[in-house]
Amino acid sequence: MKNLMIAIVERKDFQSLFDALKKKGYQISGPTLRDNAVIYDNISSVEDLPVGWTDKQDAGRYRLEKSDRASLFGYVLGPQSWKKFLYPAEHTFLNISRNGKRFEVGSAEEEQQPQAFIGVRPCELQALAIYDRVLGEGEFAATSYQLRRKKLFITAVNCIQPGGTCFCASMKTGPKATGGFDLALTEMFDSGRHYFLTEAGTKLGEEVLKQIPNREAGEKDILAAEEALRKASEKMGRRLDIKDIKEMMYRRFDDPHWEEISQRCMTCGNCTMVCPTCFCVNVEDTTSLDGREAQRLRKWDSCFTVDFSYIHGGSIRATTTSRYRQWMMHKLSYWQDQFGMLGCVGCGRCITWCPVGIDITEEAAYFRKEDK
Ligand code: SF4
Ligand code: SF4
Repeated sequence: MKNLMIAIVERKDFQSLFDALKKKGYQISGPTLRDNAVIYDNISSVEDLPVGWTDKQDAGRYRLEKSDRASLFGYVLGPQSWKKFLYPAEHTFLNISRNGKRFEVGSAEEEQQPQAFIGVRPCELQALAIYDRVLGEGEFAATSYQLRRKKLFITAVNCIQPGGTCFCASMKTGPKATGGFDLALTEMFDSGRHYFLTEAGTKLGEEVLKQIPNREAGEKDILAAEEALRKASEKMGRRLDIKDIKEMMYRRFDDPHWEEISQRCMTCGNCTMVCPTCFCVNVEDTTSLDGREAQRLRKWDSCFTVDFSYIHGGSIRATTTSRYRQWMMHKLSYWQDQFGMLGCVGCGRCITWCPVGIDITEEAAYFRKEDK
């Protein structure tokens, strides 16, 4: 990334980023407000962003509040992640139709309009890197994911204000984006000024940045942003100690504490739906009543359902204890065996959106204490 532009874009010129991306043919997606939450959707202008809103998050709790300044990115993560665009909750990937005495089998995978994400947080960049590893290559590569991913333009936003359930600093995934973006913004306020330190991460990012009114960033600008990010890192309320976590968790496989967690867990599956790295799906076949058309669908599934592990005659994980353990062990241990990386990026969504406030950082800390 060396020698690429780092520039200052004033707030009044920020719409130009949208305009430049649209001119290049991108469909823009980013944060917006709906149903009292920040969600991701297709947007077309700065005004679609949750301007002047912030969020308060804790275990099992999420509230939006008006901020005392008109920030564009003054909140952190809502319940949705970018997987809704790249690996949609429901997707048809095979169409079969009868033609006389023959069946025609066709792929439903189509070339997609190029998409630009605005507002990707550093932990979410790591989640995308995980998806690239799991779905973008190798044995389980998904064509639909590859088609969407290859045309993606990413504008990341560094987090100068960590959320109540974030723990990216301890996972080494934030609060500053270090790669995997085309542009990275740090939203700054200084003596009445509102501007964005904007770093190009690719040649394409630099090309777009040149379309936006900007001035070259000075050392003082860069140091001010770094200081804001250092403070954000220090303010993060939660942490997860990842040192030798794979081995530590394997040693706690038979710990009675799993049973205690299962007394609280309702196996609702919320944690898997909101998680930006969970990728488990089910496959369903449907046939039209006249027998002329059939489709094969992929739908998000969750390891918290009994059916998920059903294999001819019974479910392998019939108890809540076994299902919660599968989820947490997968994130922190099995994932490392499968993909050589952790399956958790520290976004905190599973903590916020767990209706009973089960907190992966607390449970991991409990197991670590027991392990000593
Ligand atoms: S841990 Fe929480 S969110 Fe996950 S299944 Fe259990 S109750 Fe639902
Ligand atoms: S396990 Fe929880 S904190 Fe980790 S990436 Fe998934 S939702 Fe985020």
